[in-house]
Amino acid sequence: MTDRVSSIVRSRIMASIPGKGTKPELAVRSIAHALGYRFRLHRADLPGKPDMVFPSRKKAIFVNGCFWHGHECKHDKMPQSNKAFWEAKVQTNRARDARVCIELTGIGWSSLTIWECETKTPNLVAEKLLRFLGPVKTT
Ligand SMILES: [Zn+2]
Repeated sequence: MTDRVSSIVRSRIMASIPGKGTKPELAVRSIAHALGYRFRLHRADLPGKPDMVFPSRKKAIFVNGCFWHGHECKHDKMPQSNKAFWEAKVQTNRARDARVCIELTGIGWSSLTIWECETKTPNLVAEKLLRFLGPVKTT
């Protein structure tokens, strides 16, 4: 199926694949770090294996690629070729994201999504982090 996706589209998609150490996630990490928060990464024992975990607060953060997770923003538009295929993929991801959020809530955790496009505005990310996590504990 991917043979029919133009190479430009394909490279754009590859660039937006959420994985360990991808750029948007690194951006969020360094902002959280700069604010003084301590966190863990990719804790596999939690639903959805969150990108960042704040154990003492029982809070988890997901840094989601706009394309794969269906963010309504201008940065990632659905490729016109194989549209149905990509849409189905994104829908599956969205359904999983929603389920993970419910599962985390069920075990007393709260979660926050930071979108790839938001990481281009570090101040916005910093504000979201502060609002979600509360004041930094200095212990
Ligand atoms: Zn976005």
